[in-house]
This record gives sequence, structure tokens and C-alpha cells, in this order.
Amino acid sequence: MKIINIINKKKTLSFEFFPPKTESNLGNLNKTISDLSEFNPDFVSFTYGAGGSTRKLTLEISQKTKESEITEVMSHLTCITHSKSEIIEMLSAYKKSNIENIIALRGDIPNNSNDLKKEIHHATDLIEIIKNYSDDFCIAAACYPESHPESISKNDDLKFTKLKQSKGADFFITQLFFNNSDFFSFREKAIKLGITIPIIPAIMPITSTRQIRKFTNLCGASIPDSLNKKLENSINNDEETTKFGIEFATMQINELLNNDIPGIHFYSLNKSRSVKEVLNNINI
Ligand SMILES: Cc1cc2nc3c(=O)[nH]c(=O)nc-3n(C[C@H](O)[C@H](O)[C@H](O)COP(=O)(O)OP(=O)(O)OC[C@H]3O[C@@H](n4cnc5c(N)ncnc54)[C@H](O)[C@@H]3O)c2cc1C
Repeated sequence: MKIINIINKKKTLSFEFFPPKTESNLGNLNKTISDLSEFNPDFVSFTYGAGGSTRKLTLEISQKTKESEITEVMSHLTCITHSKSEIIEMLSAYKKSNIENIIALRGDIPNNSNDLKKEIHHATDLIEIIKNYSDDFCIAAACYPESHPESISKNDDLKFTKLKQSKGADFFITQLFFNNSDFFSFREKAIKLGITIPIIPAIMPITSTRQIRKFTNLCGASIPDSLNKKLENSINNDEETTKFGIEFATMQINELLNNDIPGIHFYSLNKSRSVKEVLNNINI
């Protein structure tokens, strides 16, 4: 089923997973998916490793989960290191596997410029390719409450976010963020600019101070000072950070739910504990 049809009917709950680097870790991922299925997610999504490194695995896990009928599936697809013909091959494989939902992404610029195919430059181009290939896919795209780190300005980034909608994106999922006011102000500006498709906020429950600092450095999201101070206190104690992360994510989601969001997407980090505890704390 196309996810947009679910979003149009109800507030969605969804989880993001990444394909493990080794086959042996696949068991852990399957256990996490099965653990979280008790919450009846509306869909789960599987990331696409930088530069297409998980090309086969993303497709395989997406296929298996779709076949299991536990929930709807969305596959991530990045384009910056692929040629147009490679993307068409992938789309054909997804179509054969009845995967109806794709989140169309550019991907991060690879360190080695030889890996760049220089054929598809932006997510907007990928959305266009998918649309031209088939109207059967529901297409999601990324958006950035604090703007994408490469953007010239917030307005410039918003303009390209709108272009994703014009090219055919059906809904957005946000980058992680820790200050809800960033999300609210982004959404307000997006609506003013004419963005009408749903914007689903995505939340990552923090489980380690060092890890979240690394992630936010990479993706350009900020950690508010007050939160950063708290995280510093438990820098050597992941258990304490995890407990605090659950409290913080619960507070964040409760406020979002009171402010008319179309659903919640969890960056699960392939672990079920924090997501489970947050979901037990809130009422979605
Ligand atoms: C929900 C979500 C899921 C993600 N999943 C993955 C994943 O599975 N695998 C992975 O490797 N990465 C993933 N990422 C990270 C993503 O690949 C990076 O953030 C990447 O740097 C940008 O991808 P994008 O699709 O937003 O790119 P784009 O939309 O192309 O944006 C990149 C930059 O270019 C600008 N821009 C956009 N369109 C145009 C245009 N037409 N002309 C000129 N400039 C333009 C934007 O303002 C921005 O500054 C995900 C991010 C999010 C938020």
C-alpha cells in the first residue's frame, strides 16, 4: 500500500532501521523488528548505505519484510553515486518485489570524488526519474528543520524542499532535531511557501553522548546548550544517557503530538529498548 494513503487516514507510527554490515547481525535486526511490531507500526524503512554499500541488503530486507506482511515498507534510495541506468535497474527490482514506497535521497557527497557518477545531482532529479519511470511509487523525501548543512541559506533550502514537492514527492520526513521550535518554525515557513504535503517529524532517542555528538556533527543538527550540559554529565555512562534520552524523547514527542503532526518516525538505531519505553510513555 502507498504510505501516503495511510497518512491521509491516520497519524502514522514508523521506525527506521539500517541494514547491518554483516549477515550475522541480521538476526539482531530481525529481533528488533519483531520486538517493535507489537506497536503495530504503519511502516518501517530501511536505509541505503552511503554510496550504495548496502544496495543488495536494503532490497533483500525490504523484500523479506514486505513478504512477512508485518507492516508496510519504505526503502531508502540515494542517487549521487549511481548512474541513471543503475537507478532504473534498482527501480525495476523494487517494482518486481512489490515495494511501493521509496524515500528519494541524494546521499552525502563521498570522500572519494571518483565515486561520484555526476549523472544525478540532487534528490529532486531522482524524484523526477522515479516519477518518469512509474507512477506506481509513493515517494518520500528528506527535509531539514535546521536546513541542510550545505545550504546557502534557510530560504534557499526551503525553495529546494518545495521543488521536491513540485517534482512529485508525496510526503517529507525530517532530519533529527532536538529543539521542537526549529520544527515548528520550519513547518510554518514551508506552509507559507506553498508546501502542502505532510511533514513527518523524526526523533532519535539519545543512547550515548559521544555517539549523538558525532551524528549531529555529521548531519548538521544542533544540540541545545541545556541538553548538551546534561549529556556532558553522563558522557561515560551510556545507561544514564539512555534513561535521560528516553525522558527527553518522550517530552519532545508529547509536545509534537499536541501540535498537529501527521505521524512520528523513529530513528531506532536498530535497538528496541528506548523506542519501546518512549512509546509506552506516550499515547499515539
Ligand atoms: C529522512 C532521511 C533519511 C535519510 N536516509 C539516508 C540513507 O538511507 N542513506 C544515506 O546515505 N543518507 C541518508 N540520509 C542523509 C542524506 O542523504 C543527506 O542529508 C544528504 O547530504 C542530502 O540528501 P537530500 O536528499 O536531502 O539531498 P538534496 O535534496 O539534493 O539536498 C542537498 C543540498 O542541495 C540543495 N539542493 C536540493 N535540491 C537542489 C537542486 N535541485 N539544485 C541545487 N541545489 C539543491 C539542498 O538545499 C541541500 O543544501 C537521510 C536523511 C534524512 C533526513
